Parts: sequence; C-alpha cells; structure tokens
Amino acid sequence: RPLWCLAAQRKGMVIRMKKEFRDLLREHGRDTLPNVLLVSAECAPLSKTGGLADVVGTLPKSLAKLGIDARVITPYHRCIKDKYADKVEHMFYFYAKLGWRQEYVGIEKLVLDGVTIYLVDNEQYFGDKIYRGGNPEGEQYSFFCRAVLDAIPNLGFDVDVVHCNDWHTAMIPMLARTQYRGAKQEQIKYLLTIHNIAFQGKFGFDFVQDMLDVDSRYYTPEFMELNGCADYLKAGCVFADRINTVSPSYASEIKMPYYAEGLEGILNARSAQLTGIINGIDKKVYNPHGDALLPARYDRGHLKGKAVCKAELQARMGLEQRADVPMFAMVTRMTEQKGFDLVACVLDDMMCREDMQFMLLGSGDERFENFMRSAEGRYKGRLCAYIGYSEELSHLVYAGSDFFLMPSRFEPCGLSQMIAMRYGSVPIVRETGGLRDTVTPYNRFTGEGNGFSFANFDAWEMRDTMRLAMDCYKNEEIMSGLISRAMQADFGFERSAMEYAKHYIWML
Ligand code: ADP
Repeated sequence: RPLWCLAAQRKGMVIRMKKEFRDLLREHGRDTLPNVLLVSAECAPLSKTGGLADVVGTLPKSLAKLGIDARVITPYHRCIKDKYADKVEHMFYFYAKLGWRQEYVGIEKLVLDGVTIYLVDNEQYFGDKIYRGGNPEGEQYSFFCRAVLDAIPNLGFDVDVVHCNDWHTAMIPMLARTQYRGAKQEQIKYLLTIHNIAFQGKFGFDFVQDMLDVDSRYYTPEFMELNGCADYLKAGCVFADRINTVSPSYASEIKMPYYAEGLEGILNARSAQLTGIINGIDKKVYNPHGDALLPARYDRGHLKGKAVCKAELQARMGLEQRADVPMFAMVTRMTEQKGFDLVACVLDDMMCREDMQFMLLGSGDERFENFMRSAEGRYKGRLCAYIGYSEELSHLVYAGSDFFLMPSRFEPCGLSQMIAMRYGSVPIVRETGGLRDTVTPYNRFTGEGNGFSFANFDAWEMRDTMRLAMDCYKNEEIMSGLISRAMQADFGFERSAMEYAKHYIWML
C-alpha cells in the first residue's frame, strides 16, 4: 500500500486517507496530513463554561477518525487538578518572560479518550477561576499565549497548524510573526476561530506592552488598536492565516457594523480568508433513544416516551398535568443576546390570551431572573421559572417540551436549538447566525421545514410566530411531520471536522 494512502495507523487499525484530502495535499506538494494543536482557555470535559469547551473537546476526536493527529493545549485550571491530578504526567518546565517577570511554566500531559492534552501549569494564574475578568484575565491569558509559544518546540509534536480560539489565544499569531522571526513558531500556520465576537479582550496598550513587549508600531488601527484600546481579537484577525467563525451566516453578519462590534473593517479586508463552519453536537450525549437522564426513551418513529417525559416534567415542575396543551421551553443564559427582552415584552400578553405552558431553565441578568420569578407567581401551574443550572433537568426540558424558543439578538452558532431538535422539541428562532443555518422554517404550502422562524428582532413578530406554532400544534399531522423532520436533522460533529480538516490543509 503506498504510504500516501494511509492517513494514520491507530491501535492496529489503518485509517485510509479520504481521496478529497489526497487531492488537496497533492496541490500543496505534501503526502501527509497536518498535525494540529488546538489552543483554548477551556476544554470539555476538563473545564467548561460554555460551547467553546464542547467544540474543543469534541473536534480532536472527530479529526482522529479522519486520520489527523490533533492535540489540545489548555491551562491546568484548579478544577482539572482536583479531578485528574493522578492521571496527569509531568513533561518539563521552564520560565517564560512576561515583560519584566519570569514566570514558571509547567507542561503536563493527559491522554483522555485517545486525545493528547497538554496542560499549562502555573498556580498563580490558573489557581482559581477560569476567567478572572478585567485586567487580571488579560494577564492570565497573556501569560498563556506566551507559555504556549515558548513550549511548542519542546512538545515532541511536530506542529503544522495552531488552531486558536477566541481572544484568549488570539495574540499567538501576532507574537509568532513579530517576535519569533526565523524560529519554528514563525513557520507554523495559524487558524483563528471566533466563537463570539462580543468578547474581544480590550486593554490599555501600556498593559499589553508591559505583559508581552509589543512594539508600539503595532498600536495603530491597521494592527491592534480599536477605539483607543489594544484589542487582542483584532490582532488575531490581522495576523492569523485564516479566520473562521461557527456558522456561515454569522461569518457574513460579522462583516456588518450591527454585529461586528467594531471589527467590520478588518473582517471585510480579510473576507477572502474568512469562512463559517457550523458546530455539531455530541450525538451520544444527546440521544433520546438512549438517554439515561430521561424517565422514558423514544425515537422518531415511536414518540410515546416523549409524552411520558412531558408528564414527568409537568409533575416535577408543578405544572398542570395536561397532554393537550402546547409547552414552550427555553434553556438558556438569561441575557440580551438570547433575546430575553423580547420574551419579557410579550410573555404576559401570551399567557393571558393563549392556552399554553411555559418552562424556563436558565440564569443570568438579575432583571430577567426577577421578571421570570414574578411571572411564575402570576401564572401558577402554567409557567415555571427554574433559575439555575442543571444538566439533568435540561435533558428533561428538551425531551418534555413541544416547542423550543430561541429569539436571539445574535447567535454565532447555538447548540441548544440543535439539541432541542434532536429531542423533537420544535424550534422557534430568530433568523440570525447559526439559527438561520440550522432551522428551516415551516412552509404551510409545501409542508417543508423543521421549525419556525422570524426575521426581525421584534417582540410582536416573535409572538405571531409562536401563535402560528400553536395553530400547527392543533393539527396532529402537521405537528408530527415537524417533529419527525426536526429529529431527522443531522447535527453530528463529523461534518464540522471534515470542514476543519480542509481548512488546515488549505493553509499548508
Ligand atoms: P451559549 O451562547 O450559552 O454557548 P449555546 O446554545 O451555544 O449557547 O449553548 C448553551 C449550552 O448550555 C447548551 O448545551 C444548553 O443546554 C446549556 N445550558 C444553558 N443554560 C443552561 C442551564 N441553565 N442549565 C443547563 N444547561 C444549560
């Protein structure tokens, strides 16, 4: 077998390289797939505060199935130490120069589900919270960027592509290109993934100079200056070889001022290197057919179990035990991004006029939490506001609800609507970002579609769309078609991994 046919050999199994990759590699004069190092502030299941962790945790496993050796480097947070210390192996240590400071960097190694994860150890920076906020967070992740760059030549892993994620790692391409001239770090290709452009890492330039010795000629609008601040994400957008975000629609939207938070200039300038790759969900974790967290299992052809889940959810949350009433649900951070002001605007109108139930699981801004608590008091038995975070309850909410509401102001990708669809909860979304790319609105003339959507960020449009959904609920045939098509949608991570693999090869 010619060598180039093999993508990898693992545990005695030969993974044949996809023809598509072979052709792409040939164009670049290579016969082996690139080695990839993913750099991230969090990585599931070790450390997690949001969707970023899920992506970084799942992507290397899916890439391995394609024959790509993808490893992760992430901070050795306290929460990881508490759980995994006995599985971690110390590799080496050194001192990194952080402005006038010399900081200890321990490089530890952990292999989890076949994926190699390098952990950057420094108790001062990663001793408590994953994100400290403000300048302390800037210091944490300036240190992390420096530590990663200095560690790369000694990892024993011949890195071709470094895959950075969000502002916390976005300084890496700039430092590599401006401070590591002639070294291995300069030869590497850099991909930057923007998971949420609303977070950019903005600091005073004095602070950045003090941390990372950045030359003052880079503090201009062409490089990292934005509105009088040094902007880490902007630096990443300027210096990365390619940029992607987590859905094609969001990739177009962030070239417009409404969504770009000031980065529209650089993103338009780099639009040839900017793409959107939709995230996926872990189909094993979110599987109504085998979910141990549910009182009954079900699949597309047998929905009896879903009715059992609805009854259980109503019983546990103190809602009236009725199978014939449409239940709307939200599992969400309660912020403006998620469209909570729209909900607050029309909830009373809906609850007073319509025969419906509403189930909320979430936490976030105090004003929205208080609004929902008081609404629960007004509509006892019909509305439940569970303020808090519960993985277990979330599964029951996805399974027990009929409709899943997600009226986001902006949504880079969104995982919740995909999870809801997998559990047969029909999504009602605003047409933005990943919501537009994953939900096809119901068309009453052709009968196509797997959800409902509305275009403008407008509470009355949302209310009318919810009413349309309620009309469809009354028609069993329409409703079962919607549920079936929603559950059929394929949101596995394999497609995303394939796209990322192509991006890595394009960059070589
Ligand atoms: P985000 O912008 O918050 O990352 P996503 O839709 O991409 O939004 O992902 C949210 C994830 O967090 C989903 O898996 C959702 O189920 C979960 N989640 C959000 N809020 C809660 C909560 N209060 N309890 C349990 N899970 C939650």
